[in-house]
Amino acid sequence: MQAAIYVRVSTEDQARHGYSLAEQRDACHRRAVSLGVASVLAFADEGVSGALLDRPGLNAMREAVREGQVDIIILRDPDRLSRKLAHQLLLTEEFEKAGVRLDFLDFTWQDTPEGKLFYSIRGAIAEFEKEKIRERMTRGKTQKARQGGIPIGFYNYGYSYDPETGKVSVLEEEAAVVKNIFRWFIEEDLGVNGVAKRLNEQGIPTRKKKNPWHRMVVRQILTNPAYKGLWKYKGIDIPVPAIIDPDTWNKAQEKLKEARRLWAGKSRQEYLLSGLVTCADCGNTMTGVYAKWWGVKDRRYTCRKHFQGTKNSGCRPVKMILATPVEEVVWEQVCSWLQDPDSLVTATIEASPQVEEVRGELQRIERHLKEVEKGREAVLEALAAGLLELDAQTKNKLGELKRRKERLEQRQKELAATLQGIEGAAGKLVEFRSLAQEVLAKLDDLNFAEKKALVRALVAQVVISGRVSPGKHGLTGVNVTVLARVSEPGKAGNITIN
Ligand SMILES: [Zn+2]
Repeated sequence: MQAAIYVRVSTEDQARHGYSLAEQRDACHRRAVSLGVASVLAFADEGVSGALLDRPGLNAMREAVREGQVDIIILRDPDRLSRKLAHQLLLTEEFEKAGVRLDFLDFTWQDTPEGKLFYSIRGAIAEFEKEKIRERMTRGKTQKARQGGIPIGFYNYGYSYDPETGKVSVLEEEAAVVKNIFRWFIEEDLGVNGVAKRLNEQGIPTRKKKNPWHRMVVRQILTNPAYKGLWKYKGIDIPVPAIIDPDTWNKAQEKLKEARRLWAGKSRQEYLLSGLVTCADCGNTMTGVYAKWWGVKDRRYTCRKHFQGTKNSGCRPVKMILATPVEEVVWEQVCSWLQDPDSLVTATIEASPQVEEVRGELQRIERHLKEVEKGREAVLEALAAGLLELDAQTKNKLGELKRRKERLEQRQKELAATLQGIEGAAGKLVEFRSLAQEVLAKLDDLNFAEKKALVRALVAQVVISGRVSPGKHGLTGVNVTVLARVSEPGKAGNITIN
């Protein structure tokens, strides 16, 4: 590895800070030694202003870089290259394009305003360049797809794919499994879960041999149009060998749609708290089931997940909590909040996003905005001085800075709105009070859907811990905690019953 070290001291630096060229050079040499560098080329500019680019030492170093004599440049900080940000950016870019790494000794420099500005702009440029590469690659892939070839990434069960030639062919063994999945689902009415279960029972391996079949994987197979011979790639249909005839494939889609409708309807009608209940013991959500338990058929909530391949199958032994008493507890809590709206509003205000945090982020954004604006000015300054050409790249750079500015301004707007919301929460008390009175008057006349909507508006989560001991009834041995929509555990507005 070949290193170049570059040192610069202006007359002003020397006078004000007592910096000497020798000190800088020694530090850079020590760094080179610690990096295990074979040989060092030293360049220096003494008593030359950092505002000028035309410096003998710097010129010689740029020449050496162009000739490929340098792998790494060691210097105290980017200020050594230039005092002007535009020049710093220009030079670092030139060096990095030549494959040269820059090594700054003074890392605290990063925390100065100049350093932050330098890195935020470098970051924006790097981000922009990554985006450009990504876009180029995507464009290449789409083009390949249009020409009928298969772009990378066709890894569907049932097929083999050669990334070199882009050739897709059917893997007979897996294709037979795909055919079975469609048949079991359509003709035997096994359901997505039942299909996964049977695949596991028959010991059929998935692509990732170790994993069991998960219902999501089965669903993905049933909905993938590749199996009827059309692979969708970014809106383009690419023909691939079919495994399933189009009629069968369409039947599967119909059946899936039907199942979704049935399930959604059922859970909406029968369980007041679906989606809101969590088991404190295993962390699963508890879903409503109509099941026989200790000889009694009833509505219950359970944390048990019986579908195939699920990560957390829930508490063992199986935990079943009667739905009616849990729903009564939650409903009572909702009613008491409505009767005493102040308690809920107070809990809500106490637990809403911290005003201080929002203010802090707002301030950070304002600082950031200033930096971006400075960056734009620096690029414009470099343009005016003829250091940068207004080529496509520079235009893009300016564009990226503008977009960054717009994003920041957008976030600034959002935060300002949030802040206004928090500060205005107290004012909502009156509003909520009148709403509560109105709802309270017709509380007994609400239908199930209205009750459910009301619960959802006020309750964030219902947490259940413990279990009903054998031979006991109702909620004996169970803790039910009702959390208000924006409140947190431990805050007012929670209730616990035993
Ligand atoms: Zn559980």
